Amino acid sequence: MSSMLVVGSVALDTVHNARGTHDVVGGSATFAAFAGSFFTDVQLVGIVGRDFPDDVIRTMRERGIDTSGLEVADGKTFHWEGRYTDDLTARETIVTDLNVFEHFDPKIPPKFAETPFVMLGNIAPELQLAVLDQVKGPRLVVADTMNFWIEGKPDEVAKLLKRVDVLVINEEEARQLSGRHHLVHVAGELLDLGPSTVIIKQGEYGAWLFAGDHVFSAPAFLLEAQDPTGAGDSFAGGFLGYIAKQGNTEPDTLRRAVIYGSTLASFCVEGIGLERLLSVSDEEIAARVEKFRRLVEFAAS
Ligand code: AMP
Repeated sequence: MSSMLVVGSVALDTVHNARGTHDVVGGSATFAAFAGSFFTDVQLVGIVGRDFPDDVIRTMRERGIDTSGLEVADGKTFHWEGRYTDDLTARETIVTDLNVFEHFDPKIPPKFAETPFVMLGNIAPELQLAVLDQVKGPRLVVADTMNFWIEGKPDEVAKLLKRVDVLVINEEEARQLSGRHHLVHVAGELLDLGPSTVIIKQGEYGAWLFAGDHVFSAPAFLLEAQDPTGAGDSFAGGFLGYIAKQGNTEPDTLRRAVIYGSTLASFCVEGIGLERLLSVSDEEIAARVEKFRRLVEFAAS
């Protein structure tokens, strides 16, 4: 089993939905690290302010997440606030306060530098690049990004894409980044930008994996979502965690990893914030993977 390095935001989120307002711990790295921790040892790199709850850092450690790369700085933790439509199919960002991230200079502890599997969670692309400059010969680099950076820092995003192996991105942002509409064209354009594999997430409709001529379609798991925040990061963390556990990047491993990522994302949305991700068991994960398998099983004749 190899370990995985996760860098990204560690956040305090305010989520508004039909059930009210929820102040919870969030962040791309937080969701990805917890999701990955079901499969492998996780090394976390990020920054929080003095207002970040100690008990969450304790829970990370209990789950085998090495937090020695999590800096605690004077100032406030990154804060994101968003509002979902009542049917949870769309969200609007109300506030993005970078706070301690504004002057963050990620330092990869020497003991993390040779980690083979690297997850660049959603965060400023120049910070993702700074991490890549410090890791030595990773076997697989997975990156996520979002409209905030695609619009705000397009040149840095382009530079980043030349150095990642797997881009994980949601459908709307994939269209925005590629300037195309039809999925085949979108995937083709994104593959031309650098990554050898592109995973396009369609939220409640599943995910597609494109790698050259290799295409894989994962179904969505039908459930009643409570809070979709972090689903994408849980997907990415589960995806890479599973690959790290297997220790190879064969096409069949990538396919199964998409299902494991989808499984972690499906648990994530069942609770508010990290709630469900923290209560799920290995047995529940295995049972849901089996349900995914049954969902697409059919006899060819
Ligand atoms: P997701 O629902 O997978 O897109 O991820 C939601 C998480 O991303 C939230 O917990 C936020 O704290 C975090 N987030 C939102 N905007 C940003 C941003 N611009 N940079 C880094 N993280 C962000």
